[in-house]
Amino acid sequence: MDLSVKEIFEISPVIFTSACIVVGLVIGSFLNVVIYRVPLFLDNLYHTECINFLKIEDTNIKFEEPINLIRPRSHCPKCKIKIKWYHNIPVLSYLWLKAKCNSCKNKISIQYPLIEISTACFFTIQGLYFGPSFELFASCILTSALIALSMIDIEHKILPDQITLTILWLGLNINVFQTFTTVEEAILGATLGYTSLWMFASIYEKITGKFAMGHGDFKLLACAGAWLGWQQLLFIVLLSSLVASIIGLTLILVKNNNRNSELPFGPYLSIAIWLSLIWGDDIMIAYYAWINLGW
Ligand SMILES: [Zn+2]
Repeated sequence: MDLSVKEIFEISPVIFTSACIVVGLVIGSFLNVVIYRVPLFLDNLYHTECINFLKIEDTNIKFEEPINLIRPRSHCPKCKIKIKWYHNIPVLSYLWLKAKCNSCKNKISIQYPLIEISTACFFTIQGLYFGPSFELFASCILTSALIALSMIDIEHKILPDQITLTILWLGLNINVFQTFTTVEEAILGATLGYTSLWMFASIYEKITGKFAMGHGDFKLLACAGAWLGWQQLLFIVLLSSLVASIIGLTLILVKNNNRNSELPFGPYLSIAIWLSLIWGDDIMIAYYAWINLGW
């Protein structure tokens, strides 16, 4: 009896769940590379562009070789020694090496295994929700982008166009096949997502004279609209603002953060987009049922 991978997954939930976990760990390991290297790549790019634009001689070359997702090969940031493949196995290598570089004993950040484990958890929840399907495959791409964007935003306060715009185009095209919503609702969602936040930020900045949020946030909400349709936007904005205010207030109280200190909004948007991806429809149905009951 010849079984396709999809049929095996449908027959055996254990094999399917294990596959979600393993793929999640491997993709999480790749996301660590993205989170570390994309900002370095951008730094390199802007540096070169400025030098070229100003037509000055570069006396301070920051990077000897070009940086991308493949090159140079993974190495320890301190002693620069190349990491062997068997020291690059998600989570296990971290435990085996006792969180230290095998050569210089420099501490390896806990962030690496945490990203791998969280990606595996997200993929597994999505696997249970969508089952072996194209929706699962597509949703894993969106989730990966959200994880990378959130971490880059927390560390560098940027949401790179290289990720947001790619995900935006991908969302519109994926919905040509009505994967999460119709293509009409996706186009409306992308447009409304961008313009609504842009208008809010422009008005806020005009009135208060303070910076509201970066253009990356507009693009991220456009992504949400492109993937999930315009109907989910209000829920995403409300939820992300709610979580942002709770965490913002907590930081003011606990860490004595200034009321004016800038908090990246990307991670809150990402959390809300992910919740909307999985439970958006259920929440909408519950909400409308509640309104009808109330009236
Ligand atoms: Zn080292």
